[in-house]
Amino acid sequence: MSEIFGVIGAGTMGNGIAQVAARAGFDVVMRDVADEFLARGMMAIDRSLQRDVDKERLGPEEKEAIIGRIRTATDLDALSDAFVVIEAVTENFSVKAEVFRALDTITKPDAILASNTSSISITKLGAATSRPDKVIGMHFMNPVPVMKLVEIIRGAATSDETYEKVRALSEKLGKTPLECHDYPGFVSNRVLMPMINEAIFALYEGVATRESIDSIMKLGMNHPMGPLTLADFIGLDVCLAIMNVLHDGFDDSKYRPCPLLKRYVDAGWLGKKSGRGFYEY
Ligand code: NAD
Repeated sequence: MSEIFGVIGAGTMGNGIAQVAARAGFDVVMRDVADEFLARGMMAIDRSLQRDVDKERLGPEEKEAIIGRIRTATDLDALSDAFVVIEAVTENFSVKAEVFRALDTITKPDAILASNTSSISITKLGAATSRPDKVIGMHFMNPVPVMKLVEIIRGAATSDETYEKVRALSEKLGKTPLECHDYPGFVSNRVLMPMINEAIFALYEGVATRESIDSIMKLGMNHPMGPLTLADFIGLDVCLAIMNVLHDGFDDSKYRPCPLLKRYVDAGWLGKKSGRGFYEY
């Protein structure tokens, strides 16, 4: 039996990772807790590949072959033959730690266990297993098939060998891996989220309108979208959770989340996904 590329979670990120791995030629097993989530993930993959077929970037038979390389499962044992498993489940430490403990038991001892977490400590996830040297962060960006970056996060115990294997694997997936160490927010969110939070403070303090703040950053800094629009796109609950990770992790008031961000999350105005955030959708 050939070796399996495992993905846990069939949501936004998990189905994107499964698609990219299958497109690179790997036999993929994508696991979620219920068939309906797996079906939704496979539909998203189908839609995404169909866009490439429509633009003549992919042949219809290639599309079918890619989809044919993805097997879905609700049973964790389907991953027992994996050489690598990338976890992309809900951003919650206890849920992820449970997944890592289970993977540690069922996978081969030399399998690499990676997390796509945006902010949870790789060192802590590694410590939940008996193989912290083989636990690493692979932080893909959304949408996975489009975005080139994989931020590779080395936990305190991650070995050089694991890092090298994951770097090479990311390149095989057609991505650009960039390395960082395991500190709160890694590099991407440590730099991005305080900028978004500061834009929210500017709105909160009446420095400028939402449109002005976004346009100033777009036209002045050449950002493809303004910070408030980006926050709506990421999800305001996600932005708040990451600011809290930075605030708690560094114990530094410069990372305090803006009261307006908390107020919007309390109101259920979570951005694009809920129909209202800093803008209306
Ligand atoms: P999502 O909510 O779209 O998908 C999560 C999936 O995990 C759901 O289908 C859920 O059913 C499944 N799941 C939950 N517990 C599970 C378990 N024990 N076993 C198997 N499946 C389980 O979330 P997402 O946006 O894909 O995010 C996943 C991870 O990727 C998070 O850690 C998030 O921080 C990170 N991330 C997200 C983005 C983004 O823009 N969405 C970007 C980078 C990283």
